[in-house]
Amino acid sequence: MNTQNTTIKNFSYIINSIENSCSKAHRNPKHVNLVAVTKNIQPELIIPLLQHGHTSFGENRVQEAQKKWIPLKKQFPDTSLHLIGPLQSNKAKQALELFDFIHTLDRPSLVHALAKAQRQLKKNIPILIQINTGQEPQKAGVNPKEFPELLELALQNKLNIQGVMCIPPLHDQPEEHFLLCTRIAAQFQLPILSFGMSSDFNSAIASGATLVRVGSAIFGARA
Ligand SMILES: *Cc1c(COP(=O)(O)O)cnc(C)c1O
Repeated sequence: MNTQNTTIKNFSYIINSIENSCSKAHRNPKHVNLVAVTKNIQPELIIPLLQHGHTSFGENRVQEAQKKWIPLKKQFPDTSLHLIGPLQSNKAKQALELFDFIHTLDRPSLVHALAKAQRQLKKNIPILIQINTGQEPQKAGVNPKEFPELLELALQNKLNIQGVMCIPPLHDQPEEHFLLCTRIAAQFQLPILSFGMSSDFNSAIASGATLVRVGSAIFGARA
């Protein structure tokens, strides 16, 4: 368990580490957004980071995010909240109400649910397509071969598709998965590349990530 002080210390360490990786990769650190992942983390540990001025946060479940972030966003209106976990179609509207980015579009039924929610709420946010780069049957994400078709359907339905996201298989070298994502994004001229977590954000930056999602390295091991 972290205390508030260690959270800020860890955060500063990660920022430094991102800057070092950018410098090694000859990249501008302004082009790598750090999303602090707060799933299972209580507001007491999140508030110091908000007060420190950080604005990008990620949650993986709609219900947990609503409970914590409806009040926190009132207090810190500049917050940009990212949904990084799987989204059920029947929660599309709630997700669109609360979040500022969705990283996990991965199937046609969710395209239609999000399109309907966008019309109802008259709200349009950037959405990323999650790619199952390892083609793992139990994992969310579109199969790389089905990516072009899903992208086309999403664009036809007026979703604001801005990039791709992946979570590499646990026991693989992550780089080949990052690079596959990077190639697909380049092919379709999508600017946002969401990959890299606590254990591999440095190599993610070397592979082109524009957004890394870091949880435990900032907040400590989750309960
Ligand atoms: C939990 C989670 C993260 C952060 O993982 P850490 O290893 O704690 O940095 C990143 N991305 C997704 C999709 C997650 O669910």
